Amino acid sequence: MRQLAPCLLPGIPTGAIIEWQSGEILKQDPDLAAIVVQGIALSDLREYAGRLGSYLIAPMAAGTAVTPQDIAASSAARGRLLEVWDLLGLSGSALPGSTPIRLKRQEAEETFMRQGLALIDEQMAMGSRTGHFSLDGVNFTQRYVALMQPLGDMRNIYLTEIVGRFETGEREAMFALYRNGLTTAVLLMLVLGLVAAVQIYILRPLLKGAQAVIALADECPADLVSAPGEVQEIRRLYGAIGILAQRLGERALLTRQLEILAATDGLTGLFNRRALEDHAATVEVDRARYLILLDIDHFKSINDRYGHPFGDTVLRAIADLMRHSTGPSRHLARFGGEEFALLLESGSLTEAACAARKLRKVIENCPLKAPDGGMLTVTASFGVAGGAHQTWSDILVHADAALYRAKDAGRNRVRVFRAPA
Ligand code: GH3
Ligand code: MG
Ligand code: MG
Repeated sequence: MRQLAPCLLPGIPTGAIIEWQSGEILKQDPDLAAIVVQGIALSDLREYAGRLGSYLIAPMAAGTAVTPQDIAASSAARGRLLEVWDLLGLSGSALPGSTPIRLKRQEAEETFMRQGLALIDEQMAMGSRTGHFSLDGVNFTQRYVALMQPLGDMRNIYLTEIVGRFETGEREAMFALYRNGLTTAVLLMLVLGLVAAVQIYILRPLLKGAQAVIALADECPADLVSAPGEVQEIRRLYGAIGILAQRLGERALLTRQLEILAATDGLTGLFNRRALEDHAATVEVDRARYLILLDIDHFKSINDRYGHPFGDTVLRAIADLMRHSTGPSRHLARFGGEEFALLLESGSLTEAACAARKLRKVIENCPLKAPDGGMLTVTASFGVAGGAHQTWSDILVHADAALYRAKDAGRNRVRVFRAPA
């Protein structure tokens, strides 16, 4: 915008420079058309005024008549000047502007438009007829330049005001830019702060809560140690997850207790038949295992003679003897009624038969104190079967068959099922 200020370059007329500058401005901002047109017009006004004087200075200096061509050119310039003057509405109020411009316009009307043009007309009339002028070149120039001065001043004041106006606009625009930039930055920081707060106080705790719930669903310990911060709803959520974790823990304990109960014989504390069979089903078929089935002899008569509670005592006593007189690598179960089972997962059929014989002797040699004060010898019969590559049901059938043979042979003995060679 500063380039609008009048400047003089050697050899280039000011009007041409202003015209070029105006063209550049209009290319960038067509809204400036009115301002630029008025600026050009003011510049033209000064230009035509100067030309009017220039047609006279040379003849005055040379003392010659003004040529018909210069007369015509002068007349054309005069006409253009008056057109521009009218175009600008200088006699009216079309030219925008401040008090200084209005005052300068009045001054120009008085000086140049009256006295200046009158001086031109007077000297042109003299010079065109005779070549005699009432003024010499120097005097004419001094007077004429002084009369033209308000035109140049008008142009300069106008341009200075326009430049000032744009500078003010530029400052206001810059201020608005800074203010808007600052507001945007503050808003952006607020939004970023909000996002960070949501992330820290809500999203992360929620994610952690979700992970804790998933861990609980997988029966893994949930990390609920770190406090979830200030948000009350999140604290409540963590509280609820904590209660859930506690309930799930209690339920898991209960389930475990129920599982143990479901697998245990209530009277003897040994495995029950289902638990032993479930376990046997998990052992691969090609692995060797041996089953010892034990059935108390004439148990019904013990019940009949001493009563059912004593019968229970006998059952518990047999279970204890089995526990204490067999090795660690075995599974004991009460198979039902007065029948017991002993599953061995190592050794051989011979070793299993030995274990059965040893147990038979232990039972036989451990008489129990009966309710009547006497000592009661209890005996049991045994069936042994097993080996590698045998299904559980085969082993069971074979052991049962061996037990039947032991009973059949007179009881209190061990029979082993050997597969035919
Ligand atoms: P065997 O020598 O042929 O085996 O004859 P047994 O009398 O031992 O066999 P039997 O099948 O005739 O009788 C078994 C009895 O065991 C019948 C039943 O009342 C008793 N019984 C089953 N379960 C229990 C129990 O939990 N407690 C008591 N006291 N008796 C039981
Ligand atoms: Mg029986
Ligand atoms: Mg029996």
